[in-house]
Amino acid sequence: MPAGSNVKYNFAKSPIVLWGLVVMSSKVYFMDDRYSGLTSSLPAKAQQLFDHAGLMECFGPGDSVAVKCHMGEWFNTGYLRPILVRAVVDKVREHGGVPFVTDTTTAPYSQYGSRCTEQFYLETAAANGYTAETMGCPVIIADGAYGTEDVRVEIPDGILLREGYLARGVADADAMIVVSHFKGHGSAVYGGSIKNVAIGCSSKRGKMNVHLTTHPEVGWREWSFHGENCIGEECPDATLCKNTCPVGAIEIKEDRLEWDREACIGCFGHQRPLFRCDVWGRERYDDWSNWFLVSMGDAAAGYLREMGPGKVGFVTYAVDITPFCDCAHGADRPVISNMGVFASRDMVAVDVAALEMADKMPGLPGTRAEAKGVMAEGEEKFTGIIGRSQWVTVNACSRLGAGEMEYELVVPPVSESEEEFCHSRLGPETPVGYYLAKGVEKFGSWLPEGGFVYNERPTVPFEELTKR
Ligand code: SF4
Repeated sequence: MPAGSNVKYNFAKSPIVLWGLVVMSSKVYFMDDRYSGLTSSLPAKAQQLFDHAGLMECFGPGDSVAVKCHMGEWFNTGYLRPILVRAVVDKVREHGGVPFVTDTTTAPYSQYGSRCTEQFYLETAAANGYTAETMGCPVIIADGAYGTEDVRVEIPDGILLREGYLARGVADADAMIVVSHFKGHGSAVYGGSIKNVAIGCSSKRGKMNVHLTTHPEVGWREWSFHGENCIGEECPDATLCKNTCPVGAIEIKEDRLEWDREACIGCFGHQRPLFRCDVWGRERYDDWSNWFLVSMGDAAAGYLREMGPGKVGFVTYAVDITPFCDCAHGADRPVISNMGVFASRDMVAVDVAALEMADKMPGLPGTRAEAKGVMAEGEEKFTGIIGRSQWVTVNACSRLGAGEMEYELVVPPVSESEEEFCHSRLGPETPVGYYLAKGVEKFGSWLPEGGFVYNERPTVPFEELTKR
């Protein structure tokens, strides 16, 4: 579909043919995270759901397929384990697609964010276990060295946005499988498929656009400024603050901070070092925060439209459900137990399904769920934990026709076919013994000559070792 077309696709109503049956894409497929053998492991379940949800219908043989994920901030430990993404990569390849794992550079939301350039991101990804070797395909930063490579996408029916900036590497792919980690998020309330598309597929200016920091009503440039609240050059963080701004809009004077409002590009960079000093007024903070939830829905709908109807599928792991996102430098305790893995052709339905399941879970003691008083089953977990409605983004997105709020949750039986999910070199005719026999043939038995030497009876009564 050409950028700017006003035609609305109802992605949720795209029929897909699966095993000879026509099914509707607003089904959400789910398996829990309980383990009882190879076929019930989380990656194996994701692979089974990939097929149940018909995600191979998103691409054809030889199509390049972006496997969009978040490879974790430096020292974050809640991000998806690499094997959970690798499992999806292998399914894409099995069905004839040509996968690459991808994400985009970040906005400078933290002065120590480790993924704001392509090089930094690739270094962080490698430290977190994401490399071409571990993924079995290239790992590509989709918006280039500084996050400037993108295509402009018109969103003529957006509630707040009129345009978006989609990372070129994603836009150039033939299809995309969005692999998300469901959890809370300090700004987005929750993180799931929509955010993974809206922010995760935006170039750097795309992210600034969605964050509305230069919006004429709620943007940061409209906020009040109180440079006199800064103590100036004697502050130990003076150099940090000055160097935080990539366009030199911040200057630390002897006894105050000066800000060039016109030069500011709304990059988001000064929020941590400077907000804490009350240099920027927060009169419009709540409006800005709420409107951001809406603009994410706009951007995600626009980007999906740009990719083309039926070209994007979704796998969402609801494990390690921390209160904040994987962009944080660490991971707080999960607020609810693991739930499992979802797959769908419908971006909105898969998020709604995860949110509704989370609401049914009890909060975990000693976590932010307890601190925020949302421990009971049936309470809106992320609305309570973050303090803003968890429904805004899904509502906004569905209004643009990018998915359905209503869905059918399908829980298929777990496969019993272990050979389908074991390591690729193993199988019924080549179990591990097959390979070990080669070693025995070369080097003889593993046992030392004459066998191991043991005491015939334990030298300490067993019972004595069973008590503290
Ligand atoms: S002053 Fe503007 S451009 Fe500079 S760091 Fe802050 S938001 Fe970014």
